[in-house]
Amino acid sequence: MALIVQKYGGTSVAGAERIRNVARRIVQTKDQGNQVVVVVSAMGDTTDELLELAYQISERPDNRELDVLLSTGEVVSSTLLAMALHGMGYPAISLSGAQAGIRTDSAYSRARILQIEPKRVVRELERGNIVIVAGFQGITEDMDITTLGRGGSDTTAVALAAGLGAEVCQIYTDVNGVYSADPRLVPEARCLEEIHYEEMLEMATYGARVMHPRAVELGELFHIPILVASSFNEKPGTLIHGGVSMEVRNKVRSIAHNLDVGKITVVGVPDRPGIAASIFNPLAKAGINVDTIVQNASTQGITDLTFTVGKGDLARAMEVVKPIASQIGARECASDETLGAVSIIGTGMQNTPGFAARMFSTLSENNINIQLITTSEIRITCIIDAAQVQQAVRALHRAFDIEEK
Ligand code: ADP
Ligand code: ASP
Ligand code: MG
Repeated sequence: MALIVQKYGGTSVAGAERIRNVARRIVQTKDQGNQVVVVVSAMGDTTDELLELAYQISERPDNRELDVLLSTGEVVSSTLLAMALHGMGYPAISLSGAQAGIRTDSAYSRARILQIEPKRVVRELERGNIVIVAGFQGITEDMDITTLGRGGSDTTAVALAAGLGAEVCQIYTDVNGVYSADPRLVPEARCLEEIHYEEMLEMATYGARVMHPRAVELGELFHIPILVASSFNEKPGTLIHGGVSMEVRNKVRSIAHNLDVGKITVVGVPDRPGIAASIFNPLAKAGINVDTIVQNASTQGITDLTFTVGKGDLARAMEVVKPIASQIGARECASDETLGAVSIIGTGMQNTPGFAARMFSTLSENNINIQLITTSEIRITCIIDAAQVQQAVRALHRAFDIEEK
């Protein structure tokens, strides 16, 4: 008997009929003789709606209260799914993240899982139950409810798979698998049969929403194969694992894009030791995640410092940086939220020249101006005008010849 963890995303449980559809799929897996643990997201746009409601009540909702509020979305879908399974004659029980033993740190809205104590899950499995766990949430040492960041139900699923020693973690969603680019933007995108954790992590981190980055990290750390597939059909999907052959890996495999980019530039900064630390330490203390950082070569002891943050953090980051900028004698501090990022990703780029040149030429042929560039060994990212992101993704997808053939 195998233990399988399945996760169903928001679109897959949006409405009673879809919840029944998910229940039927779970029953199939159970009938094949497996023990099944299921993680669910909130129904449809519930999380967005709850957030909106909170902001109607308060301009700055309290972090702790906000996490309790958002966690209820997943509780709703988990109970309804348990009821659907009961209706089909199958024993099932829903558990909140706390009941499932998901212990996190206390960083509200982006908590990290510290440990899983799945005693209750194991007990319910032994009783023959299908166990439905509310995704996206955990509990701190002080018994406060936390959430794991947008898209975090994927992470709940992989963490549970690791904690329970499951054979595989299956992520069921509203597309057929992981594609070479967001299929909603690039109709010719190719559904990949398999992908290495490393490439998937770069894709997820740089905008491919289909997997939560932390889930991919955990999968790699605990050697959990992750299958991404549709909850609406029987297509095979994409396997994320560590054993992808070199041949498959040997080129640009995907284009990721991200429209959640806010840029801050501190202009006319005196170029002396300690300046970067004086800006980035307070940002870190405020819990603001900084992505790209670029400092210009200085002329006459003066330089510009540019960095990007998520749009949701932009106002807070400006509040932190503005007073520091004037303290250190910078000329000006400006923000911009009309930007987006496009990335080309593939392990084949390691130690091979020419990829950057082809990316930049393709963007220039399309009249797309590059504002910032960052790279890793297997990725090149360009920050460009948000309005040109779709055009850039399509052009790059063509230029690197990754279309469906
Ligand atoms: P769920 O609610 O099931 O977690 P998400 O909306 O979080 O689903 O993620 C699935 C979405 O990710 C798809 O609908 C698709 O638009 C988007 N996406 C972005 N990049 C990719 C990619 N490379 N491959 C597949 N889907 C992608
Ligand atoms: N419901 C949460 C969100 O919308 C978590 C998830 O779906 O994974 O971000
Ligand atoms: Mg998701």
